Amino acid sequence: MNNISAKIAAISRHRLAIDGDGVTTLVVFAGCPLCCRYCLNPLTLSPNPKFKNLTPQQLYEKVSIDSLYFVATGGGVTFGGGEPCLHPDFIDEFRKLCGPQWQIRVETSLNIPSDNLAKLLDNVDQFIIDIKDTDSDIYSDYTHTDNKLVMSNLRLLADEKFCDKCIIRLPLIPGYNTDANRQSSHEKLNILGFKNYDYFNYKIKENPLWHEANKLVKS
Ligand code: SF4
Repeated sequence: MNNISAKIAAISRHRLAIDGDGVTTLVVFAGCPLCCRYCLNPLTLSPNPKFKNLTPQQLYEKVSIDSLYFVATGGGVTFGGGEPCLHPDFIDEFRKLCGPQWQIRVETSLNIPSDNLAKLLDNVDQFIIDIKDTDSDIYSDYTHTDNKLVMSNLRLLADEKFCDKCIIRLPLIPGYNTDANRQSSHEKLNILGFKNYDYFNYKIKENPLWHEANKLVKS
């Protein structure tokens, strides 16, 4: 499959303890199926002519400059976005190029087709999952999308014994959820077998695309 390519919005090198252990390079894919109100990276949601279309080989050549750091520190490449799990074939090709020594991580909402997730299981060392909130009403208000795929994909990861390879991000989303909602999400995920959690607070930074989507929903 050597005709695979993807739009890459940014590449950020020498990150320490931000996207997993060790020295990492963050590769930001363009495009995401969600439209979160406080999206951290709204530029990745819209077509932008400045984004580079890269093949896995071209990306590998760019990031392998830091291979020694990755191997020495237990780091590697973290794919973020946008939504990296829309690109399982790209990540598969990339893994063949970099081999098993680099840690491959994905920062994902997990709101992706289950076939994509199944393809990624062999290639991803760690899933960093921002679940927003497990309450379906809170989730759809905040993202304009339902969370059925997120919940079924969490079950798939649990069934495949991947809980230890996941960090679940549980955000406090101003105006949408409360600490009690977070606790409820945490308890549901504990029952599935997840153990690693990251509590954090979203900052209010409005995503203009969310407002456009909101007008459409309400018109
Ligand atoms: S999941 Fe939400 S926050 Fe992340 S890139 Fe997509 S719209 Fe933005």
